[in-house]
Amino acid sequence: MPSFYDPYVATSLPTDVSYVSSYWTANAINSCDHNAAALPEQAEIVVVGAGYTGLSCAYELSQRYNRKVVLLEANQPGWGCSSRNAGFVLRGTGRLGLSQLKARFGLEQAQLFHQEYGLALQRLKDLVAAGNIDCQAQTPGYLKIAHTVKQAQLLQQQAERLQRDFAYAVSFLDQSALQGCINSPGAFGALRLPDCYGINPFLLLRGLAGLAERSGVKVFANTSLRAINHTGAGYQLTTSAGSLHCEQLVLATNAYTPKNILPELNRGCLPVLSSIIVTRPLTASELSACGLTPGFMAMDTRALKYYYRLLPDNRLLFGGRSAISGADLAKPQYPAQLRQALWQTLPALQGIDYQYHWAGWVGVSYDDLPRVAQTSEGIYYAAGYCGSGISYSLLAGQRLAEKLMGETLPPLPLYQSPLQPFPFTRGRRLAQYAYYQWAQFADRFLS
Ligand SMILES: Cc1cc2nc3c(=O)[nH]c(=O)nc-3n(C[C@H](O)[C@H](O)[C@H](O)COP(=O)(O)OP(=O)(O)OC[C@H]3O[C@@H](n4cnc5c(N)ncnc54)[C@H](O)[C@@H]3O)c2cc1C
Repeated sequence: MPSFYDPYVATSLPTDVSYVSSYWTANAINSCDHNAAALPEQAEIVVVGAGYTGLSCAYELSQRYNRKVVLLEANQPGWGCSSRNAGFVLRGTGRLGLSQLKARFGLEQAQLFHQEYGLALQRLKDLVAAGNIDCQAQTPGYLKIAHTVKQAQLLQQQAERLQRDFAYAVSFLDQSALQGCINSPGAFGALRLPDCYGINPFLLLRGLAGLAERSGVKVFANTSLRAINHTGAGYQLTTSAGSLHCEQLVLATNAYTPKNILPELNRGCLPVLSSIIVTRPLTASELSACGLTPGFMAMDTRALKYYYRLLPDNRLLFGGRSAISGADLAKPQYPAQLRQALWQTLPALQGIDYQYHWAGWVGVSYDDLPRVAQTSEGIYYAAGYCGSGISYSLLAGQRLAEKLMGETLPPLPLYQSPLQPFPFTRGRRLAQYAYYQWAQFADRFLS
């Protein structure tokens, strides 16, 4: 693997870097090249970062508010997370489930969160319809699988609370009911969420890029923002392709934001690696030995979670935590650990190797919740989805646009304050290492 961009240490994001070599890009029919027209000297609104957040925000500003938008991307659209994620469309974001939101903010607020997350799923559907995007949506149904007996009891209680407090049509599957969905010695029960499903994230990304461009957004690829100077009337931006002035500025760069570009964002969003492996297509007998059927999609209850799904061509995608620094990612131990975890989860697949392996940075916030906010210098941003950002990033893009246009956003903590800075910003990787050690112990012996 060539040297891997690491936003925790890099002071700028290089340009002209190809998409990460993944199952998604290997199976894409044609590329997503955007030409490099000359950058204008002036722009009304500049959005930086052409992932789901930036594309959704730029589209909303152009389509709904008729504003002129320049969208800058250091590489090709979606080069960050949005071309390389696992494609789990989830109802939610951050690291807090509805019960935790209720405990922290009260029932009424938690219900509002649930409603907002429902709007995020709808936002995805609306954009897919507007762009006529075929992103290979699979049959809905997502399992949160208990990896211990105790976790299964907790999931059962959780199912009752979600039905009662949120009228959420989840169901609990005990160990015997689960045998019809997955044959795994490590599955003790599961919560089934009815409205989550798998997609091809790269097809979604390309469809959104096309939709934004057709709405009038000017996309400048291979254009990396290097510095921001606040002028009285806006912002002077220095980029790898020249400089330009804009009246309003949105940073949709999330976990890929290089250090120093916007210190507030850097302090509030920790880039954390997540890795994925994908097997060859499984045979009919392998599928039946595992008990897997089309659309199968799951995550376990570990603190260091594994997530896995059956792709439309019957390959198994399996993902989880990875190295801490970009420099360490090339070590073969990381995909090997995932492969071992896959074999433990589905022993019928023992000996089956992976054909694809790749990784990317997710943005983790200090209080486990993302934010759509503004810095003290008036720069708008959305970040910190903690690895659950496909549906919510699209709503966050819309909320960013609305905020920029002076509209009132729903009264949720997501929109009421900036990202909280991590204490001891410089020691965050050490703390992450310590957390991984503790979580590994807790997953084995305490949960
Ligand atoms: C391995 C992996 C698996 C995941 N799986 C899932 C999943 O199954 N479900 C889910 O909901 N979420 C998942 N996620 C998270 C999800 O992909 C992200 O939350 C989402 O894509 C974030 O979109 P974004 O537009 O905010 O950020 P990104 O897609 O990362 O976009 C930011 C863009 O900004 C650009 N940029 C950064 N700095 C600059 C600069 N200085 N100048 C110009 N451009 C710049 C980057 O090149 C990048 O393209 C996963 C993430 C990873 C890494």
